[in-house]
Amino acid sequence: MPDLITHSVAGHLVARVTRLRHGLVLLVIGNCLPDLLSRLPVRVIGEINFRTGHLAEPYWYWMWMPGHLPVGLLLASYVLAHLFVRERRRAAFFTLLGGSFTHLLMDSFQWHASGGEPIFWPFTWNGYEIGLVSPEASLTWIPALLVASAVVETVHQAAKAFVTRRAAERRTDGPVGH
Ligand SMILES: [Zn+2]
Repeated sequence: MPDLITHSVAGHLVARVTRLRHGLVLLVIGNCLPDLLSRLPVRVIGEINFRTGHLAEPYWYWMWMPGHLPVGLLLASYVLAHLFVRERRRAAFFTLLGGSFTHLLMDSFQWHASGGEPIFWPFTWNGYEIGLVSPEASLTWIPALLVASAVVETVHQAAKAFVTRRAAERRTDGPVGH
C-alpha cells in the first residue's frame, strides 16, 4: 500500500487536474479511507497486543478487511455521505467512493505477496493486481509528489486570484465604459 502521504497527494492532484470545484478535502479523505478503515485499526490492535502481551483473537484482525475492498468502501461512503445535508449527499458519496477507488487502483500497481486483493469479495477470494512496482516504491516518490502538489496548488491559487481580480476590475469599470 502506498503510504497515506502518497494517497493524500494523489487525491489533491486528481481534484486539481479534474478541476473539481468542491470536495477537494473529501476526495483526499476518500483516497485515505481504505487504509484508515482497515490498516489503521489492525496497527492499533497490533500495538495493543505488543504492549499488553495479550494476543487478540484472529477475527479482531480479519474483521477490518472489507474496509479495504470495494464492498466495504461502498458501504462506508454511503454511511459517511449521510453526515451531509440531503442536497450534498449524492456528491459526497461519489467523491468519497471515487477517492477510495483511486486508492485501490494505486495499491494494485504494487505486487503483493498474497497475489493481490480479493476485490470481488464476497463473491470470490481470487486476488487481482497490476503488480508493477514494489510495495516500498511509493516512499521514494514522496518528495517529487509533494513538489508536484505544491506547484499545482500555487498555479491554481494564482489563476484563481487572477480571475477574481479581473472580475472585480470588470465590475468597477464595466457600467461606466459601456
Ligand atoms: Zn491501501
